[in-house]
Amino acid sequence: MRLTPDPARKALRRVFGYRDFRGRQREIIDHVCAGGDALVLMPTGGGKSLCYQIPALVRPGTAIVVSPLIALMKDQVDALREAGVRAASLDSTRSGEEAAATRRALLAGELDLLYLAPERLLMASTLELLGRAQLALFAIDEAHCVSQWGHDFRPEYLQLAVLAERFPGVPRMALTATADPRTRQEILSRLELEEARVFLSSFDRPNIRYRVTPKRDTRTQLWRFIAQEHPEGAGIVYCLSRKRVEETAAWLREKGRDALPYHAGLAPETRRAHQERFIHEEGVIVVATIAFGMGIDKPDVRFVAHLDLPKSLEAYYQETGRAGRDGQPADAWLAYGLQDVITLRQMVDSSEADEQRKRVERDQLEAMLAFCELTTCRRQALLAHFGETLAQPCGNCDTCLEPVATWDATEPARKALSCIYRTGQRFGIGYVVDVLRGADHERIRRNRHDQVSTYGIGADLPPAAWRSILRQLLARGLVTVDEGGYGSLRLTEAARPLLRGETALHLRRDPSARRSRKSGRPK
Ligand code: ADP
Ligand code: ZN
Repeated sequence: MRLTPDPARKALRRVFGYRDFRGRQREIIDHVCAGGDALVLMPTGGGKSLCYQIPALVRPGTAIVVSPLIALMKDQVDALREAGVRAASLDSTRSGEEAAATRRALLAGELDLLYLAPERLLMASTLELLGRAQLALFAIDEAHCVSQWGHDFRPEYLQLAVLAERFPGVPRMALTATADPRTRQEILSRLELEEARVFLSSFDRPNIRYRVTPKRDTRTQLWRFIAQEHPEGAGIVYCLSRKRVEETAAWLREKGRDALPYHAGLAPETRRAHQERFIHEEGVIVVATIAFGMGIDKPDVRFVAHLDLPKSLEAYYQETGRAGRDGQPADAWLAYGLQDVITLRQMVDSSEADEQRKRVERDQLEAMLAFCELTTCRRQALLAHFGETLAQPCGNCDTCLEPVATWDATEPARKALSCIYRTGQRFGIGYVVDVLRGADHERIRRNRHDQVSTYGIGADLPPAAWRSILRQLLARGLVTVDEGGYGSLRLTEAARPLLRGETALHLRRDPSARRSRKSGRPK
């Protein structure tokens, strides 16, 4: 009996040095090798690259890989060449001579893979060049960049649909680590991949422990987390602003940790140096804005900490996903406060985006907030957001490990809602809390809010408790932040039943929001 040759497995072992395919790699590779279109949804680190690299070797002709990140492209090309694969890229950093040699190699059938940025691919001259070459397939990496509602939108990606018309016989695959059902649908329709088979892998990262904690003294909380749980491992700390990145990195250095800042305002060589040290040395902490991380493949990142709220659950998943790619236990730690929500809301409201886009961004922020205030398993909620069902609570997130205590907050919540109403729905959190607690200050007197019925009705709870209540009312959509950009709180329709006394409300109890001892313990 003759054994059927298995070129895909042979390539896996000989070229890449791996024994077995992972997850759905085998299925995907077989489908594409047979000429089918595919949409591959796999979490970061899941092994998407092999899904097109192996068909590139198995199928005759050159595989064209579209990637938005030049740096990433170069790393891949270098690694492939080292493994003996005939790979090249055409990008703005190549000299004219190099580019000419690459074009010749393509036409002579001497390239297995050619990497291109989308804008380069879409140039008339490139399309014409590809028309004269034998093509094995098109792989469109980071395909979620077609989504106008995602955070990585690239207008050129929309034009990639042209490949379907210009190269009807060439299989096309789109790959991404963003898998919410809306993005998935957008990729299929915008890239004209309606015929494609969809390969959805589980997005669960069971080794990552998710934790969310309300902000009190953020730095101290961060330091406690790092000192107690990660005294030596490498980690990433995300902050929203450059200033905060710099300050936090300096502060961690004072504490004795090897911490480096990373943001778009630093010189390119500084950024590169910091990235290199993070990747190659042990125990480096990078404090970064979200500019850091795309395409960084460091397997042993032990924690990702967020000092500010990410803009969406997709962003949160991507950013936390940089931890624990080696499969060993890792932590995703997030501290958030009400002010984060307000700041992000104001950023959305004051941006240049059109109304529809703003609405999407507000929804995304609300989903993120709801995730923070969960009293049930975080992993179940996170996966559900990506359309995946986890049958049992995970046992590896904060709400699973320490079930959340809840309390009957019906009365205080009603007080808070009516205080917002009585003061005209024109004020932010700080002011509302002051009125509730009966603070004696000039602005309140000037507005005659020391005369309203809700003035001082909340003196029995400390400010932290009121902020916790307001935050949760916001997270549950009973209160919203006004779109005017001033951070004023407003009631929503959903607040009515509670105000009318028709429903009760149980909220999670924040350890920081206990009543002070003087005024007794919470019920
Ligand atoms: P993604 O693009 O999905 O983020 P990569 O393609 O970069 O993931 O793969 C992540 C890591 O897993 C890489 O180090 C890669 O070499 C490794 N890998 C991929 N497939 C396999 C496999 N079948 N066996 C072992 N390691 C694999
Ligand atoms: Zn859980």
